[in-house]
Amino acid sequence: MPELPEVETIRSGLAELLPGQRIAGVEVLLNKSLSAPESHITTHIAGAGVTDVRRRGKIMIVDLSSGYSLLVHLKMTGQLVFEAGGQQPAKPGTGTNEPHSCPNPTSETGDGRRVAGGHPTQSMAGDLPDKTTRVIFTFQDGSKLFFNDQRTFGWMKLVERSKVERDKCFMAMGVEPLGSQFEVCHLKSRLKHRKAAIKTLLLDQSHVAGLGNIYADEALHLAQVHPSREGQSLSDEEIERLHAAIIKVLGDSIQAGGTSFTSYVNANGITGDYLHNARVYRRQGEPCRACGTTIDKIKVGQRGTHICPNCQKLT
Ligand SMILES: [Zn+2]
Repeated sequence: MPELPEVETIRSGLAELLPGQRIAGVEVLLNKSLSAPESHITTHIAGAGVTDVRRRGKIMIVDLSSGYSLLVHLKMTGQLVFEAGGQQPAKPGTGTNEPHSCPNPTSETGDGRRVAGGHPTQSMAGDLPDKTTRVIFTFQDGSKLFFNDQRTFGWMKLVERSKVERDKCFMAMGVEPLGSQFEVCHLKSRLKHRKAAIKTLLLDQSHVAGLGNIYADEALHLAQVHPSREGQSLSDEEIERLHAAIIKVLGDSIQAGGTSFTSYVNANGITGDYLHNARVYRRQGEPCRACGTTIDKIKVGQRGTHICPNCQKLT
């Protein structure tokens, strides 16, 4: 599942491309992927300009000039692929009156440049739409935004902009770990008196928004805290280390372009960089980068969890 750094990376990529674009049309291939009445799609999306692309937790918010916003949750297998159509200047020798015979229309009408994010599959680099495409937005300059979702748990929905913050999907969402409200005292207050495993508490979106399995494991290793320890057992110093570690692993991953995609996709590669440098995640059997001890994989609250048994002691 895409976590906060993956969503932030695709958000920042789209934030450079979408504002100023005007939506010419919307094609909904699977109704549940975009829950809005047909009349609302026609009135509030089609013809609207994109004014901003924001994020809260793992949910992307695309603000439209119609006074509405599109909320996008990629869930397990969702991905967004923006393909620049572009009204490129005609190249010498390619007269506009020539009949179109090129098998790849994007190379004829624009540069075909792509920005993609979310669950990594070949759809990011292959011809679109394909069988996983659920919604297609077409922009006035010929660019397209594809919402692909193999398992169809992802969703988009249309909400009045003034009601976005009060939408039920944000009601139980905790603070942004990269925002100014995420302070050590906040984390302390969320962990004190709680007997649940620290990893389980970190995955609870009501404490901190956007942390998932990858970054919980990574942050706990960096902070040298065993994921099974009760939240209330952490010392002030450990909470301070954990707070700093959460910010660092998320920041590092955003800088590396997330774990699971590249921001600019081409046919040669669709994997992100962060996992190549992961501390523990999916490195069971390999040596800890800090001490050389073999990384172990255990279960914490039903979730596969990666630890260094030497750096992260249970007692
Ligand atoms: Zn170690």
